Amino acid sequence: MNSKTLSGDAIRRFENAADYRKRFVIKEQIDKYFPNGKHFVNEAEIFSTLDTAKKKTANDPVRIREILAKSRRIETLQLDETADLLQVTDPDLLAEMGETALAIKKSVYDNRIVMFAPLYMSNLCVNRCTYCGFRCENDQQKRRMLSMDEVKQEIEVLAGKIGHKRLIAVYGEHPETSTDYIAETIQTAYRHIVESPKGTPVGIRRVNVNAAPLPIEDLRVLKKVGIGTFQVFQETYHRETYEKLHPAGTVKGDYNWRTTCFHRALEAGVDDVGLGVLYGLYDWQFEMLALLSHTHDLEKQFGIGPHTISMPRLEPASGTDLPETSPYLINDEIFKRIVLITRLSVPYTGIIVTCRERPESRNACIQYGITQMDASSNIAIKGYSDFESEGHQEKDRQQFVLSDTRTLEQMIAYLGKKDIITSFCTAGYRCGRTGGCIMDALKTGKEGKFCKINAVLTFREWLDDFASADTKAICEPVINRELAEIEKNLPLFSKTVKEHYDRICNGERDLFF
Ligand code: SAM
Ligand code: SF4
Repeated sequence: MNSKTLSGDAIRRFENAADYRKRFVIKEQIDKYFPNGKHFVNEAEIFSTLDTAKKKTANDPVRIREILAKSRRIETLQLDETADLLQVTDPDLLAEMGETALAIKKSVYDNRIVMFAPLYMSNLCVNRCTYCGFRCENDQQKRRMLSMDEVKQEIEVLAGKIGHKRLIAVYGEHPETSTDYIAETIQTAYRHIVESPKGTPVGIRRVNVNAAPLPIEDLRVLKKVGIGTFQVFQETYHRETYEKLHPAGTVKGDYNWRTTCFHRALEAGVDDVGLGVLYGLYDWQFEMLALLSHTHDLEKQFGIGPHTISMPRLEPASGTDLPETSPYLINDEIFKRIVLITRLSVPYTGIIVTCRERPESRNACIQYGITQMDASSNIAIKGYSDFESEGHQEKDRQQFVLSDTRTLEQMIAYLGKKDIITSFCTAGYRCGRTGGCIMDALKTGKEGKFCKINAVLTFREWLDDFASADTKAICEPVINRELAEIEKNLPLFSKTVKEHYDRICNGERDLFF
């Protein structure tokens, strides 16, 4: 089957379909998460906390060091603590905050960056988000949804030629591409095992999903087919701005339905959830405290905070000028500050910075404790199999424009030169180390040990299957140093690790702890 291309009318036809909206905005699956009828984002409290922090003496080293000590204990910060960090301007204190952020990242996640790739399955969308190239009234966008054969073709490039093991599958919101389609594409991606250039079997081992909020029953379906992280960006937590940018009458126009999407996911057993704000839509300091309130509420109601926090920033997109005209756009300095203070505020969480960012900005963020990056990314629908040259972009087939077009190999070599190991580990989720279980393991440093071992094993696989001689030369010392550290610091595991490692060197694949 070829991918389906729909006309503008066919897309818009669903816009006001009352049935579709009714099925997807279920009042009982919203209200139950607001005990006492109160929303967990308390705007008045956030504004007053920010006001108080601005009036205090900024740069008070005693107060700031107390807060940093709490972050080092891997405890989530309170709103007033994060608000105080936001006011720091003193270069020495800022440097101390940076060192602490990196030290926390190392203690929780060790010296590694996990790599993934986005796979856009469909750009059909019934919504009208004013900043997005996929919004239904944008006639400049060529619409299509991948058929299962096309999903396989994309996997052949992603897994077979580039060497990715972990995807974020991305979907517009549309009845044609809802839960059944999401489930089928996930299963197709998992089942399609292909050959690497060296003839070894390779495939996708973890499929995370970035899609619209779903009802509990639908999330159970995704849980059954092995969804990794369920990622939904709130875009903005500021209700008035949210309602302005997401018109009433659209499914996405319901603020409460979106803000409770992770409550439903956790109730459905999808316990790795990925939060995010689209920075540039509203005041960044407000957004940071609101995202922290969201984190507190998930911790309080489910004992599980965000598995990841993503840092998307508004980028140019077809048919909209908001990414150039929004009064809330942030510069690189502020972006780095957001990454740094997120690391300090929610110390156990994974932090994702994607190819939306320019290379210099992404490189700098590595120093502030990010844990996941994508590379060789192509976000055009069917972009991987249609365009041979990596880095090729088609504005009318993609949601926005990417700024970092480095290949996976270039990225790995860059990290290798900085002594950082690239990981393709997907073992946590396959061994049941998710949700509350992984949260405890991360806070106590146990997960870091498994991660270190699995990073070495999966990096060995990638180097043997995909790396050029030059990249290997850069990365062998990194992997050898990691092996030596395992031998020294994890003596109980060291013998089995060495056995697994040797088996991988001899061509076996997918061995993990
Ligand atoms: N359609 C679903 C939704 O909106 O939740 C799935 C995600 S959408 C395809 C992926 C994300 O891309 C959105 O949540 C939004 O944060 C981000 N996005 C949209 N337009 C963007 C732009 N111009 N620049 C950067 N990110 C953008
Ligand atoms: Fe559709 Fe998502 Fe884009 Fe909004 S952000 S228009 S819901 S794809």
